[in-house]
Amino acid sequence: MLGMRHPWIFSGALDLQEQIEDGVWVEVVNRQDIVLASGHYQNHSIAIRILDFAPVPDKQAFYNQRVEGAYHLRKRLNLIRNDSNIWRLIHGEGDQLPGLIVDIYGNTAVVQCHSIGMHRDLPLISQSLIQLDGINQVFDKSAETLPTQYRQTVQNGYIVGDGSIKVPLFENGVAFKVDWEQGQKTGFFIDQRDNRKLLGDLAHGCDVLNAFSYSGGFSMYALANGARKVISVDQSEKAIRWANENALLNGFRAHQGITANVFEYLQEPDNHWDIVIIDPPAFAKSLQKKHNAVQAYKRLNAAAMRKVKPNGLLFTFSCSQVIDRELFQHTIVSAAMEVGRPMQVLYALSQGADHPINIYHPEGHYLKGLVVQVG
Ligand code: SAH
Repeated sequence: MLGMRHPWIFSGALDLQEQIEDGVWVEVVNRQDIVLASGHYQNHSIAIRILDFAPVPDKQAFYNQRVEGAYHLRKRLNLIRNDSNIWRLIHGEGDQLPGLIVDIYGNTAVVQCHSIGMHRDLPLISQSLIQLDGINQVFDKSAETLPTQYRQTVQNGYIVGDGSIKVPLFENGVAFKVDWEQGQKTGFFIDQRDNRKLLGDLAHGCDVLNAFSYSGGFSMYALANGARKVISVDQSEKAIRWANENALLNGFRAHQGITANVFEYLQEPDNHWDIVIIDPPAFAKSLQKKHNAVQAYKRLNAAAMRKVKPNGLLFTFSCSQVIDRELFQHTIVSAAMEVGRPMQVLYALSQGADHPINIYHPEGHYLKGLVVQVG
């Protein structure tokens, strides 16, 4: 396991010498007492999340170094720009910080900890974050991502600043309002940035249906690139309010937001579109739910394909970690067979480069998408 540098150690692989408190840093030693790795312990099937293949380091120096390394990578990828100040700084295992997500919205870092250890280290992590150019607010949004038994003890809130310093936010020049306090996840689905850009490039003059729109990310790119009409559909009223606000913010008039269940909306008979986007939430959060999730994806995709005008495009996504790229593609193929029209796969899509995949942790490759021409 350790030779493969996978960042997790399962409880069955450990020979614990004493009881360990949740969240503390531990060292992993072999039978010869040689330190192989160090990381956060938690009484869970994933018992240790490895932070370093070395003894427990000076923690502040460790976080400074990891955070700076992640920052330089984003800089080097040209993801930090005046016209694009929304980006992911830390993507858990992908940035060698399992259990930690940090998204940047202009001057604000929004943190979601998935492990107790990361939450205990948050004062150190905040300290590293505010060393970065332009970051002067840190918001902790971990109440919904920590293990359930620990959630009650924490509240979302500012660790640095109070939210009063607001800067305009842009993604590839498109303006967005992001409400990280009330919004889903850290407030915005940053992982879709490159895919939104592709959609924008193909949307000129099109009628576009953006299903599972959230705050209208894809919709705004379509409108910015001259789409004729764009409809955003989401079951969350708040999401649709934000989508409408984002359209106003950019001065786009051809937008309509509809609060509805996508499964029901797609049953409405008459509407057909040049482009249909479906970006549902993860239907399968566990392996047990995999079969049902595949059925739901198939049903949804077949319904969406039927809504595409001849020679129009379907942008379809899955962010379920337990459904891999191959299974996703098979599911789309069986939906196509049910619909029975000619179809061509044009692009296979993924998450943006600020959501890097640790090569030893392929599970980190969670976002899959296909662009299909439906004949
Ligand atoms: N494409 C979006 C992100 C989508 S996240 C972006 O680029 O920002 C998934 C969205 O699906 C959430 O906003 C959630 O509210 C919505 N949702 C979940 N189930 C739904 C359903 N059955 N019908 C409509 N919306 C749904």
